[in-house]
Amino acid sequence: MATVLVTGGAGYIGSHACKLLKAAGHKPVVFDNFRTGWREAVKFGPYIEGDLLNPADLDAAFSEAQPDAVMHFAALSNVGESTQRPDLYWRNNVVGSMNLLDAMARASVNQLVFSSTCAIYGEAQTEVMTEDHPKNPINPYGASKLAMEQMIEDYCAASDLRAVTFRYFNVAGADPEGQIGEHHEPETHLVPLVLDAVAGDRAEITIFGDDYATLDGTCIRDYLHVMDLADAHVRGIDWLLEGGAPLTLHPGTGSGFSVREVIDAAAAVTNRPVPQKIGPRRAGDPPKLVSGSKEAEEKLGWKLEHSTMEQMLRDTWRWRATGLYKT
Ligand code: UDP
Repeated sequence: MATVLVTGGAGYIGSHACKLLKAAGHKPVVFDNFRTGWREAVKFGPYIEGDLLNPADLDAAFSEAQPDAVMHFAALSNVGESTQRPDLYWRNNVVGSMNLLDAMARASVNQLVFSSTCAIYGEAQTEVMTEDHPKNPINPYGASKLAMEQMIEDYCAASDLRAVTFRYFNVAGADPEGQIGEHHEPETHLVPLVLDAVAGDRAEITIFGDDYATLDGTCIRDYLHVMDLADAHVRGIDWLLEGGAPLTLHPGTGSGFSVREVIDAAAAVTNRPVPQKIGPRRAGDPPKLVSGSKEAEEKLGWKLEHSTMEQMLRDTWRWRATGLYKT
């Protein structure tokens, strides 16, 4: 059993990782400033309130939790917002991560599982993407994550730090047991917004551009169920605890869904119409991002168990009906 300090553990992906850490016999300790996370999502271990921008908070957390390893989720992650407020992204994501790495070094904690993103690649230059795809981020969010990756790589090279980095594609769904799920304020992600439109909580879903060079003109993304992603993270911790070398992996499904396909699937799962309209493109959106790598399966023995579009929509639909964390 290991104690894992989970930065951003009150957020969407972090809370699901805590659930599976606990199920695997580990002890998750959440470190969160609760600015975008939810106290109600901390259900699987203790929490420490603190901010990555305050090194004293980090030192206190390491001293209190005495972790064996860290999972680092805490970051700002909205592509659109990052194009308007790059300062927030560079400060919170890059400076915050540097503070974390320095606090880990002071506490002699050398094992890190890190949330990165395929946004570091920018426009796809190949039909599907593998971990060696050229990195040319086209928005400040992706640029900040690339800087974080490079920083971690340099710290690993110069010290005993070992990191497993996951470059996420898109994530959807919720805990099938309904304890936790996705809730952002404001919500910007496609799957919850589509279901809000179905439920009448918003007038319609706006499709951000239908003139991309894709089959139906809308953007294509690789959607992974949050439980499968959380499972990859627990396997990443176990890999490190067993002495594994640093890794960078794509937890993706290898299948892409267009915005229109997601909307059509939501209509089928809920058996209701989806009010929709076409809007302009959103700044910073690449037309297609789909993983083409099997390394996470090969290295970690990871298998997809929940990642059909139908299950992601069904679990999210069931989750939103609980009304949990709604303010
Ligand atoms: N999208 C959309 N309307 C919305 C929100 C998202 O058409 O109201 C599109 C967006 O342009 C992208 C896809 O849905 O192509 C997934 O966007 P999301 O924000 O969920 O994740 P991202 O791909 O930015 O990580």
